[in-house]
Amino acid sequence: MAKPLVAFLTGAGISTDSGIPDYRGPQGLWTRNPDYEKLVTYDYYMADADIRRRSWQMRREVSELRPQPNAAHKAIVTLAESGKAAVRVVTQNVDGLHQAAGLDGRKVLELHGTTRFVVCTSCGARGPTNDVLARIDAGEADPPCTECGGILKTATVMFGEALDAGVLNGAAAIAKACTVMFAVGTSLQVYPAAGLAALAADAGARLVIVNATPTPYDDIADQVVREPIGEALPKLLRDLPAA
Ligand code: ZN
Repeated sequence: MAKPLVAFLTGAGISTDSGIPDYRGPQGLWTRNPDYEKLVTYDYYMADADIRRRSWQMRREVSELRPQPNAAHKAIVTLAESGKAAVRVVTQNVDGLHQAAGLDGRKVLELHGTTRFVVCTSCGARGPTNDVLARIDAGEADPPCTECGGILKTATVMFGEALDAGVLNGAAAIAKACTVMFAVGTSLQVYPAAGLAALAADAGARLVIVNATPTPYDDIADQVVREPIGEALPKLLRDLPAA
């Protein structure tokens, strides 16, 4: 018999224990400073060098927090390495902490892209974000592409940009095929995450929601867990029955 496929749909709540500031929570970046939303809106970003300068400064500040994977990220890696199940992660996060915890990047689909890499908006060249942050530290406010001089941005999906169709299709395929889906640290209110939970449940997967606050899918979930993610997820995964 094939191994069970355990899917994780993860959102900001899995990374708050790692010190990543959330955006829309009570202490969120945008709640405190609504103007910040412009820093990650494609049209503003492309049109205004000052917005780009501030956007890079925001990336630099988050990077200086040196976020590290926490117990929840590590528990997923432990499950993947145990061989008990095939593991796939679909994440709304752009922080790369699943991979930093040691999960094979091929098992992670990043719905909103990643801050670990930058991409040129003219020629498509990609490179590590750390290289650009080093240029900013050396005095460049808005470093251009070294290949063509074009505008660089993080490889994240900004407001006004479309999600990657290949990533979306991959996420839907995982939702349809999984045996169990853990929705972790996501309020399941935003497309496409919300649709993926419904897709998994409709296809017969067991749906387990681990989130501090209620979600619109709590009623159809097989289990709802409100305890802190860093404590709850390792325990849930340890108790997962072997195939
Ligand atoms: Zn370029």
